[in-house]
Amino acid sequence: MGKIAENLLRLRDEVALACRKSGRGHQEVRIVCVSKGRSIEEIKEAISCGVTDIGENRIQEALLKLNLLRAPNSELRTHFVGHLQTNKAKDAVNIFDLIHSVDSLRLAEAINKAAAALNKVQDVLVQVNVSGEESKFGIKPEDAPNTIKEIYSLPNVSVKGLMTIAPFAPDPETARPHFRALRQLRDEVNALSAMSYELRALSMGMSDDFREAVEEGATIIRIGRRIFDS
Ligand SMILES: *Cc1c(COP(=O)(O)O)cnc(C)c1O
Repeated sequence: MGKIAENLLRLRDEVALACRKSGRGHQEVRIVCVSKGRSIEEIKEAISCGVTDIGENRIQEALLKLNLLRAPNSELRTHFVGHLQTNKAKDAVNIFDLIHSVDSLRLAEAINKAAAALNKVQDVLVQVNVSGEESKFGIKPEDAPNTIKEIYSLPNVSVKGLMTIAPFAPDPETARPHFRALRQLRDEVNALSAMSYELRALSMGMSDDFREAVEEGATIIRIGRRIFDS
């Protein structure tokens, strides 16, 4: 068995274990294979091992690669996980099923306009900077209810949930409070919106901290190195 196949088997086992530990069903967690910087051959191998969701973080790279990866009848789902500039919104809407990184109303408006021109309703997540790190993109948690409400009112954008990137730390336990904070924020926003909309998705957890994220309620984890590296 090749390295990627072995990595994926182990990853799925570990996700299932984290689900069991926290009383969740393993089908509640979608694994997005983050393929930035990987070759077409590597990505095709991952797809042949059952990967259904591919994530990229640069528009130019994704434009080149996704064309080569999408077979006519493939069910490949595409995710944008990087920082999106407003002037690239149109390209992103063209090629991605889910944009994880909406971090301003201005960006959401640009996505809405591009999606309207394509007759598409674009699924998005709102990126929240729960840790408050200066270097991170994302809206402030205290702005989330209002910003989400405004984004929600855009007709060609559909807000599915929230995304965050935990600060880098050697011990993955340090990420847990940030994951918990994102889940609580989602639940607060849902309570405030009083059933006019419900956010379900939580995109959180990467190669080093996906177990903690799953235990705290992640519905999408974004994994690169654990799939492609030994
Ligand atoms: C690269 C990247 C990932 C995957 O990171 P790994 O540590 O390789 O699993 C996840 N999310 C985002 C936003 C990324 O840029």
